[in-house]
Amino acid sequence: MIFSGGCLCGEIRYESIQKPMETGYCHCSICRKSTGAPVVSFASFPEGAFTYTKGKPSTYSSSPSGHREFCSKCGTQICYRENNNTETVDINSGTLDDPETVEPEFHIYTNDAVSWLNIEDDLPRHPKGTV
Ligand SMILES: [Zn+2]
Ligand SMILES: [Zn+2]
Repeated sequence: MIFSGGCLCGEIRYESIQKPMETGYCHCSICRKSTGAPVVSFASFPEGAFTYTKGKPSTYSSSPSGHREFCSKCGTQICYRENNNTETVDINSGTLDDPETVEPEFHIYTNDAVSWLNIEDDLPRHPKGTV
């Protein structure tokens, strides 16, 4: 199965030839600010299975621990990469052509969640990251 996606304007396209190793919601303030959404859903694909098939994203160092890649034309944020972990690419799963295939399995950084966001599910909730 191929997981494909891209930015809003179509300038950047990507695909992964393997399924994500994990999927979740991130409530951290950096994800919130950088996307403008109260929570971000992400899918961590194996780096070796992931490629950009069209265009080249811009990068932004969003914290000492990692950077974000985004389309410089439309601004869509595509992914987050941790500086210390070159094995996975955390795709913002809303950029997938079919986000239905990567249902989140847990929540992280719930300590930072906005109080008016109420997601009613029974998924595990981690106050900070999972590690
Ligand atoms: Zn774009
Ligand atoms: Zn986050």
